[in-house]
Amino acid sequence: MSAPSKLPPFSADDPLGLDDLLGPEDLAIRDTIRAWAAERVLPHIADWYERGELPVIRELARELGSIGALGMSLTGYGCAGAGAVQYGLACLELEAADSGIRSLVSVQGSLAMYAIWKYGSEEQKRRWLPGMAAGEIIGCFGLTEPDHGSDPAGMRTYAKKDGTDWVLTGRKMWITNGSVAGVAVVWAQTDEGIRGFVVPTDAAGFSAPEIRHKWSLRASVTSELVMDEVRLPADAVLPEVTGLKGPLSCLSHARYGIVWGAMGAARSSFEAALEYAKTREQFGRPIGGFQLTQAKLADMAVELHKGILLAHHLGRRMDAGKLRPEQVSFGKLNNVREAIEICRTSRTVLGANGISLEYPVMRHATNLESVLTYEGTVEMHQLVLGKALTGLDAFR
Ligand SMILES: Cc1cc2nc3c(=O)[nH]c(=O)nc-3n(C[C@H](O)[C@H](O)[C@H](O)COP(=O)(O)OP(=O)(O)OC[C@H]3O[C@@H](n4cnc5c(N)ncnc54)[C@H](O)[C@@H]3O)c2cc1C
Repeated sequence: MSAPSKLPPFSADDPLGLDDLLGPEDLAIRDTIRAWAAERVLPHIADWYERGELPVIRELARELGSIGALGMSLTGYGCAGAGAVQYGLACLELEAADSGIRSLVSVQGSLAMYAIWKYGSEEQKRRWLPGMAAGEIIGCFGLTEPDHGSDPAGMRTYAKKDGTDWVLTGRKMWITNGSVAGVAVVWAQTDEGIRGFVVPTDAAGFSAPEIRHKWSLRASVTSELVMDEVRLPADAVLPEVTGLKGPLSCLSHARYGIVWGAMGAARSSFEAALEYAKTREQFGRPIGGFQLTQAKLADMAVELHKGILLAHHLGRRMDAGKLRPEQVSFGKLNNVREAIEICRTSRTVLGANGISLEYPVMRHATNLESVLTYEGTVEMHQLVLGKALTGLDAFR
């Protein structure tokens, strides 16, 4: 061990020295996304959240496209071709602003674009991906149905062949970006098993009413997709995949981004709590000087930076082509669960101010309730890990 005088100073922002794991390009991407979020999201987010709207979503999408954040880890077709850690850092910075903004980016890049990039024909890729990477076209991903969430195998949306056409009928529920999407990737039963369809949202019979009255992800567009005999050409189907492994592999990609993103919401809440603890005085001194508050801050810092380290480790495995879905479940289960705990503990440090929109903490906490549920609930990830550990399937 080096002599104490040679040690780098302790940093409250980076107590484990995790920035040492990042190269100059990683840091530049992180700074770009952080600066964009600080300028374009943070001044407005409390207002959007309170109104339950994301009124400038199309502008934001184009700006996110211009800084390379859409389909960031994909290659070709106007995508940035960034590494997994770089994509993760972007998710963290976006979710430090708001989970709704990170959701916009995750659904666009890791679900809708990824499905087309991975399983689409060359023609589908050329038609859709450049516009989506630029943020000119917003995409959504329809898997969940009113009666089929955790168990999508039972989905009822059906595509039947009619000559060379497909005719798509059914309903999808809780679909991020649905009402503003120009293209929807919709998963449906067919006579050949579950297939993915690339559906232009101006197709006759397609509608996407917005779901209102949410108390979570309020600055995010969430919609129902209604498909009433939507007629699609033969080439609307994603040719390269049949079965649930199609949507599940897309979800795995998106969940990886959540492993990082959740730590962004946690970081923002922790920073608010730390700052407050240093300045708020009770009993004649800053509340950060009380041992009970310090225990909360220390425990939060430990979980926050352990979570970032875990995300980094998974990112390195993804770049090396070694990241297993069970490992993504490990990360999503831990990091979202810990992030929500950090938000709840931060809320207690802020006392009554903790429930105010003047501070980001409660907004992050309520957002994370959705993040805890979508892309596989806590229980689903426990079952994935339980099965991997025991070899016994407890899903049904
Ligand atoms: C804001 C938001 C945005 C979303 N965006 C999208 C999107 O873009 N695209 C999309 O397709 N979906 C989206 N979803 C849907 C999301 O993926 C589902 O809500 C999720 O998969 C859970 O399904 P469910 O809500 O039907 O709950 P259910 O599956 O009905 O589960 C209810 C509860 O039962 C538990 N449970 C179920 N089965 C078991 C079991 N075998 N053992 C133990 N416990 C079990 C679950 O863990 C959960 O706690 C979104 C959801 C939200 C809230």
